[in-house]
Amino acid sequence: MSDRGPSIAEHVTAVRARRVRIPDLVSDSLQRISMRNRTLGAFLHVLDEEARARAEALQSRLERGAWPGPLTGVPIAIKDNLCLRGVPTTAASRLLAGYRPPYTATAVARLLDAGAVIVGKTNLDEFAMGSSSEQGAFGPVRNPLDPQRVAGGSSGGSAAAVAAGMALGALGSDTGGSVRQPAAFCGLVGLKPHYGTVSRYGLIAFASSLDIIGPLARSVDDCARLWRVIAGRDRWDATSRDAEDRDPEGGRSLAELRLGVPRDWVGGRIEAPVREAFERFCAHLAARGAELVPVTLPDTEAGLACYHLLADAEAASNLARYDGVRYGSRAPEAGTLAALYRRTRGRGFGGEVRRRILLGTYVLRAGAYDRYYRRALRARDAIRAAFDQVLAGLDAVLTPMTPTRPFRLGTHLRDPLRMYASDRFAVMPNLTGWPALTFPITKPEARLPIGGQLCGGPHSEVRLLRLAAMLQGGGAA
Ligand code: GLN
Repeated sequence: MSDRGPSIAEHVTAVRARRVRIPDLVSDSLQRISMRNRTLGAFLHVLDEEARARAEALQSRLERGAWPGPLTGVPIAIKDNLCLRGVPTTAASRLLAGYRPPYTATAVARLLDAGAVIVGKTNLDEFAMGSSSEQGAFGPVRNPLDPQRVAGGSSGGSAAAVAAGMALGALGSDTGGSVRQPAAFCGLVGLKPHYGTVSRYGLIAFASSLDIIGPLARSVDDCARLWRVIAGRDRWDATSRDAEDRDPEGGRSLAELRLGVPRDWVGGRIEAPVREAFERFCAHLAARGAELVPVTLPDTEAGLACYHLLADAEAASNLARYDGVRYGSRAPEAGTLAALYRRTRGRGFGGEVRRRILLGTYVLRAGAYDRYYRRALRARDAIRAAFDQVLAGLDAVLTPMTPTRPFRLGTHLRDPLRMYASDRFAVMPNLTGWPALTFPITKPEARLPIGGQLCGGPHSEVRLLRLAAMLQGGGAA
């Protein structure tokens, strides 16, 4: 057992061997939540009674000789934009306050089928739009490693929950970095799977061509275990498909690895401690024989612009349904229908969501459509083609996960472009649609963790997980 508590594998082994009882493990996790959630704001809804009842039920199944699955008794947190039947699901929006979905997201149902215990719904930026988890309607998330700092976003609550030991793993959603950026800010491993390989059924939509659900955990192995459970085709999501284990030949030891490093991404626009940590990590890998190949990839500034045009256009269209008539909590009677819509949406949505709806509506209107939206679609194709070309002959591309360390609460709220810039490296794999993974490149005792990012080609999850374990095994620099 590591000093950070048991891994998922150790936990499940202990449960199976009856060395520990599931109700005790779940109770530990709930106790940590009750001790720290008031400060951290990681959970919007804690499933105290439900989790205890499920733990008892699982334990008695176990005692009758049944083995529910690979996550038996593992306490897991899920982002509050994932539906769980009968349980409040708000996406941190006032518009959805009081909503209890009549169905469960497929990814969550798969966790339950594997024996997991859901301990609560985690805080986020409203509708997953943001990079700090300060822009939800119900208060900010704080970083357990330094509560003056943000936990990242938008899956900041999921990251804080795992980093504070309130859950062994968590699910987030990643449209433009929302699993990986908070994972990096909290010293965790986070995976964005290949688009479509985790069902979006029951995920509250933000930008449907980019959205994917992914796991956050304390180690590569934990993260891999969660991913294997949630991945695969689902008849409720027509865009879903099976994950494929594509990990051909490639470097099997550090000395055989070829990693591409986009040198100009690591240029001027990142803070010195991140650049230094990244350089140190690269030097450390090189000293162990890995080949680091300088590569040229499209500029991240262009990537960010492309991402925001597409994401906001899709968000404007996805969020049109929250008008207080079809969906969402309705503002008091307002005379005309138009006034009712205006009041419901004007009061229900926070500032960041309104900004994106306005921008997205603008880029889709006649006249702007070709100039912005269609151009962004072409840019996405060009970015994918550039990655495809660069990845040939490489095991993966290695970048810093974020341009800065976790920033202080409040410092980015008045400057949306500064907030968006936190995802300059993260959005690129959402645009290609291919897997990407973050893992800490600093030692666990570092005061503030710094994450690296591995980006791979189509269906490269298994490869990226293997590489991350190998790079970490080489020891953080
Ligand atoms: N931070 C990015 C944004 O604000 C990505 C969010 C996400 O992945 N859900 O859009």
